Amino acid sequence: MKYKRILLKLSGESLMGEKKYGIDPNILQQYAEEIKKVKDLGVEIAIVIGGGNIFRGVQAEKSGIDRVQGDYMGMLATLINAMALQSALEQIGLYTRLMSGIKIESVCEPFIRRRAIRHLEKGRIVIFGAGIGNPYFTTDSTAALRAIEIESDVVLKGTRVDGVYTADPEKDANATKYQHISFTEVYEKNLNVMDMTAFTLCQENNLPIIVFDMNAEGNLSRLVNGEKIGTLITV
Ligand code: UDP
Repeated sequence: MKYKRILLKLSGESLMGEKKYGIDPNILQQYAEEIKKVKDLGVEIAIVIGGGNIFRGVQAEKSGIDRVQGDYMGMLATLINAMALQSALEQIGLYTRLMSGIKIESVCEPFIRRRAIRHLEKGRIVIFGAGIGNPYFTTDSTAALRAIEIESDVVLKGTRVDGVYTADPEKDANATKYQHISFTEVYEKNLNVMDMTAFTLCQENNLPIIVFDMNAEGNLSRLVNGEKIGTLITV
């Protein structure tokens, strides 16, 4: 196995599938099954899930909601997704723990680094909900920070696109995919991988990122087996 411990970042938007809002139960089930395949390989798995399918802080400003208030609403949205994913994982027999960046004790544990690591060592899948618990951050930053804290080998960013391209492949037919690119090159070429906070955290802590297509069946386990899928970003 190429990686012993991984942090998987899933965007909230990916959970929508073809829907315009909310959670598509088929996608949820599909993701749970992909995660199980990796679990069965003996890999320790932590997951950060976004909330963009339900609410984003920046969009709140347009509707007259204060940005900070909106960001907390966004964090609660990630928790809703995290609970849905936890349930889907448990339904197929996996052991999980949900840890939150905001204390909501009747629903989940607060994030405590040592405890998170202990859960992983015991084979539980740990889902980090509610971001890092602070406004003006994103779940990409959460993924980067938590990955460093739990000493993950890699951040796997599951998206709808199968890697980082020279231009947006949905808009530019001539766009080509990078198989491997350095942090510096991503920065210099102004490519969109993660927000700068997340990106810098990974770069400064020498934490590789792989951007890959989470919707392609078997991709996640192939990646963990060391196959070259998506785009690898390293120092
Ligand atoms: N958010 C936040 N702090 C965090 C994580 C998330 O304030 O540490 C808020 C922010 O408003 C963000 C929203 O939660 O827009 C949903 O997360 P994100 O946009 O990262 O979700 P994704 O794009 O992955 O679906």
